[in-house]
Amino acid sequence: MSAPATIARVALDLPLPELFDYALHADSPICPGDWVIVPWGRSRRVGLVAALADSTTVPSDRLRLLEERLPGMPRMPADWLELIGFGSRYYHAGFGELALPAVPKLLRTVPGARSRGSPVLRARERFEASLPKPPEASEHTEGMRVLTPGQTEALRQIQSCDGHAVFLLHGITGSGKTEVYFRWLEGLLAREQAAQALVLVPEIALTPQFAQRIRERFPMLPLAILHSDMPDAERAAHWLAAAEGRARIVLGTRLAVLVPLPALVAVVVDEEHDASFKQQEGARYSARDLAIALAARRGLPIVLGSATPSLESWHAARRGRYRLVSLRERASGASLPLVQRMALRGARVQHGLTDPAIAAINETVARGEQALIFLNRRGYAPVLNCGACGWLSRCDQCDAYRVMHRVGAAAPVAAIPAPAPQRYRLVCHHCGADQPVPRSCPECGNVDLAGLGRGTQRLEEGLQSLFPSARIGRLDRDVARRRGAAQQMLDAAHAGEVDLLVGTQMLAKGHDFRRLTLVVVVDADAALFAADFRAPERLFATLMQVAGRAGRHHAASRVLIQTRFPEHPVFVALAAHDFDRFAADQLTEREQASLPPFVHQALLTVQARSADDTIAFLADARDRLLSADTEPPIPDAVLAALTVCDPVPMPLAQMRGLARAQMLIESASRPALHAALGPWLAALHAQRHATRWQLVVDPLEI
Ligand code: ADP
Ligand code: ZN
Ligand code: ZN
Repeated sequence: MSAPATIARVALDLPLPELFDYALHADSPICPGDWVIVPWGRSRRVGLVAALADSTTVPSDRLRLLEERLPGMPRMPADWLELIGFGSRYYHAGFGELALPAVPKLLRTVPGARSRGSPVLRARERFEASLPKPPEASEHTEGMRVLTPGQTEALRQIQSCDGHAVFLLHGITGSGKTEVYFRWLEGLLAREQAAQALVLVPEIALTPQFAQRIRERFPMLPLAILHSDMPDAERAAHWLAAAEGRARIVLGTRLAVLVPLPALVAVVVDEEHDASFKQQEGARYSARDLAIALAARRGLPIVLGSATPSLESWHAARRGRYRLVSLRERASGASLPLVQRMALRGARVQHGLTDPAIAAINETVARGEQALIFLNRRGYAPVLNCGACGWLSRCDQCDAYRVMHRVGAAAPVAAIPAPAPQRYRLVCHHCGADQPVPRSCPECGNVDLAGLGRGTQRLEEGLQSLFPSARIGRLDRDVARRRGAAQQMLDAAHAGEVDLLVGTQMLAKGHDFRRLTLVVVVDADAALFAADFRAPERLFATLMQVAGRAGRHHAASRVLIQTRFPEHPVFVALAAHDFDRFAADQLTEREQASLPPFVHQALLTVQARSADDTIAFLADARDRLLSADTEPPIPDAVLAALTVCDPVPMPLAQMRGLARAQMLIESASRPALHAALGPWLAALHAQRHATRWQLVVDPLEI
C-alpha cells in the first residue's frame, strides 16, 4: 500500500475535544469544510473536515482511509471554519462540539440503504415549497411608516458607518427599535442582489411574531427560521436555504449564529441582554458575543438592541468600543407608565394582592382595558408543607423543593373547601421528578397538608374569586407545553377576549397588547436576595420589560410593584425609568468589587457522587494550575495575573442525585486568563478523569 499523501483532520459529533485523522488518496479532491463519511469502529460516521495536514501522530497501521464526500452537502466556507475555530479557542470547546450541533442532524447522517433519495435534495425542495405567497396589502400589515424624529436620527447614526461597527441601540420599551432594524436592513438588502441579513432573538417563543412582522414587511424576500424546536426536516430545509444563500433573511435563536451565510451584510441581535443567548449545554458559547465576532471578522455592522442593555455592552458603549444610539421616546407618542411602589409590609393582602392593586384592576376592567398580573413563579405553590411537624416537599434528588402543581383547569377557590389531593402533583423543576401529592404527611401522618406561597396557578384562582366576571388568561411554561395553547391565549388577548392576563415572564417579552394599561407585579422580592451578583441587573431588566407592556398605545397607564422593600435601589430606579442611573450605580459597585465587566471570568464546574469528591477534584485542579503542572508550563507572569477562588458547592448543590461544585478563575487580563486556561484544561483532559467537569467562559450564573 502506498503511503497516503495527505491527512484530513475530521470533527465528529462526539463529546471529545479532539479532531480525528484520516488518510486521503493522493488525488483526493477533499478540502477543509467538506462533509465526509469516515469509518468509525465497525460503523461509519459523518464528519466535517476541519483542516488538512501533511502528517499525523496516528500510527500508520491504525490510520484509516476517509471514504467519500457526503453527497449533496455544500462545502462549509473558510470564514465559517475560522469562526468555529475562534469560538472553540475562546470557549475552550472542541471544534466538533461547536460545529456539529449547529448543523441539523438530518443533513449529516450516513445515507442508509433504506432512505430514498438524498435528504439534502428533499430539504431543498421543502424550503421552496414552504415559502408563503406574497400577501396582499392589508391595513394590518407592517407597512411603511413615517419614522419618528428619534428613529430617523438613530437610523442616520447606524447608516453612517461603512464596514464593521457594533451599535448598541438603547431604546425604551415601545420606542420602535424593530422599525429601525427593518429600515436599516431594507436599505442594505436592496443594495445587493443576493445580500443576506441575520436576526437573532433570545427565545423560541419570540420567533413566530417576529417572523410575522418580517414577512409582512419583506414579503418578497425568502425568510429562513431556525430554532431547536422545529421538526428535523423543516429545520434542515431552512438551514440549507440559509447556507446556500437562497434565504435572504435568517431569523433564529442562538444556534442561528452558527449557520454559514455566504452573502451576509448585516446582523441584528434583539434583546441583547437576554441570558438565553448563552448556550446552556455542550460548548457554552454566547450567541451575542459570537455574532459580534462574526461581524468583526467579516467587516460587517451589527446592531444590538435592548431597553435594558447588559452591563457588559453598556460598559463597552461608555468606553467607546460600541457606538451608543438611543431612542428615548415611544414611537406611538404615548408616555411611559407611571410606576408606583406598593408597600406589602403592614398592608391588607387578599390572594396576594393589596387593596390598591385590587382597586386598580377593578377600574381597569371597568374601563374595558386589560391588566397584566405578573408573577415569575409557575405552579400552584412553591412548596407543600405539613402544619403539624413542619415537613416540606424536598426533592430527594436535588437541593430544592418540589413544586405543587394543579392538574387540569382552575376552579374558584370557594368551590373547593378541601382541595382533593388527586388534583395536585409535586414536581421538581430541576430533575423533572413528578409524583402525586401524598394523602398524608410522610413524616407524621397528618392529613392537613397545604401549599405555602403562591405560583401563577394559585394566583389565577385568586383572581377568579376576586373578579368573578373578568375573563382571565394565564400564560406560563405549563400552559405553553400544550401545542398551540400559548398562541391561542395570546390571540385571545390581542383580540380583546381577555381582561386579565396572568403569567410569568413569558408574557413580558415582545408582546404589544393594544389595550393593556395596568401591570401589577405581585412579588419580586425573592430576586433581591439572590447570591448572584447579576441578580439586580436581571430583575431590573425583567421588570422594565413587563412594565413596558403597559400603555404602549394609550396616554395613561400604571405599573404597581408590590414589595416589602419599596426603597430598594432597583425599585427606585424603575419608578424613575432611569436605566442610565441604575447602570451607572451597578457599574460603580462592580468596579469596586472587581466583578465583570471589570474582570474576566471562567468557571470550572463539576458533578460527582459526593460533595467531597467534587471539592477534591476542584482542589486538585487548582493545585495543578497554581503549581503550573501543565504542558507547556504556565508562565509565572500569567499566573500572577490570575485569581483562583476556592472550590465551593454550586448554588444548587445537588441535582439529579449528583453533588455539584464550582471554582472561579478571574483575571483583569483576558489574554492572561486564556493563556492559563489552554494548558490547564489540556492537563485536565489528559487525566481522563471519571468525574464530569465543564468549563464555562464568561459565565452568566455564578
Ligand atoms: P420596541 O421593540 O422598541 O419595544 P416596537 O418596535 O415593538 O418597540 O414598536 C412599538 C410600537 O410602536 C409598535 O406597535 C410599532 O408598530 C409602533 N411603531 C414603531 N415605529 C412607529 C412609527 N414610526 N410610527 C408609529 N408607530 C410606530
Ligand atoms: Zn407532618
Ligand atoms: Zn429534583
